[in-house]
Amino acid sequence: LDAKEKHLFIGFYQQDSNIQIQKKLELQNRLKNAIKNNEFVLYYQPKLSLSDFCVRSVEALLRWNSKDGIVLPNEFIPILEETRLIIELGYQIFEQAIDQIKAWQKIGFTISVAINLSAVQLDDANFLEKTFTLINRSNVDRNLIEIEVTESTLIKHLDRLTKLNEYGLKIFLDDFGTGYSSLSYLKEVPISGIKIDIAFIREMFEKKNFEILKTIINLSKALNLKVIAEGVETKAQANALKSLNCDEVQGFLIARPALAKDIEHLFRGPFLIGK
Ligand code: C2E
Ligand code: MG
Ligand code: MG
Ligand code: MG
Repeated sequence: LDAKEKHLFIGFYQQDSNIQIQKKLELQNRLKNAIKNNEFVLYYQPKLSLSDFCVRSVEALLRWNSKDGIVLPNEFIPILEETRLIIELGYQIFEQAIDQIKAWQKIGFTISVAINLSAVQLDDANFLEKTFTLINRSNVDRNLIEIEVTESTLIKHLDRLTKLNEYGLKIFLDDFGTGYSSLSYLKEVPISGIKIDIAFIREMFEKKNFEILKTIINLSKALNLKVIAEGVETKAQANALKSLNCDEVQGFLIARPALAKDIEHLFRGPFLIGK
């Protein structure tokens, strides 16, 4: 490349990234307004117990109800994390989830709600104090709040998560099987269970994966951990997971994430899978 070409190339690249930066700033502003206008809503996806086919717990999954339609987390969580807006929104998510637990209790359903936490939320120096305050104020039964974190977040924030667990919240290791997942540390962390990642479940019938899955489930059970399979889409998967002693399944086979009122009928159970 001679100097001129090089310059042209860089110029083009800079122009391209300027447009990207511009777009990103626009989105950041829209997200800020969306938080202010309460455009974020929680959808809920049930987890089905394979011992009695009842639903006792759901996962809260964030949706942006924008004027152009429902937007999924992958589109906005990274930006909310980068701008740290997720911290502020995170406390609102806690409040929404707690209100839902109480609303369900009022109509006779005792249902746990799992809240996803990213590392950025736990980075907040006031995280514990703020979270304890809002939970105390709400008078909710702490046993009914679950937390989902990935392996890297668990390791990074072991101290804070241990305190959260001592306070009474159950912690689950999310996306198990995608990270480093050294099995030996499972005995040393304050978790109640693991959620096996969808990518792993998708390929569970490949011979080696099936053997690994069996081992993961047996080891987890031996350590007294609950095992939940994510992304279960077929009866064959659910039935095989039951025969492997997996505790709970979650996925489109049972229900897609939906508004609270649209999944309540599943609480009346049992939900039979069939062959
Ligand atoms: P996750 O916690 O691992 O959630 C599982 C994802 O798999 C969800 O995607 C869910 O809709 C999707 N899913 C569930 N069952 C099936 C299935 O049978 N098939 C397929 N193909 N997908 C299934 P979603 O809702 O788009 O959320 C993506 C990620 O965004 C979550 O992964 C979580 O890490 C993050 N997230 C969601 N809500 C929140 C939140 O309130 N706060 C934070 N910090 N992160 C959140
Ligand atoms: Mg999760
Ligand atoms: Mg997951
Ligand atoms: Mg995930």
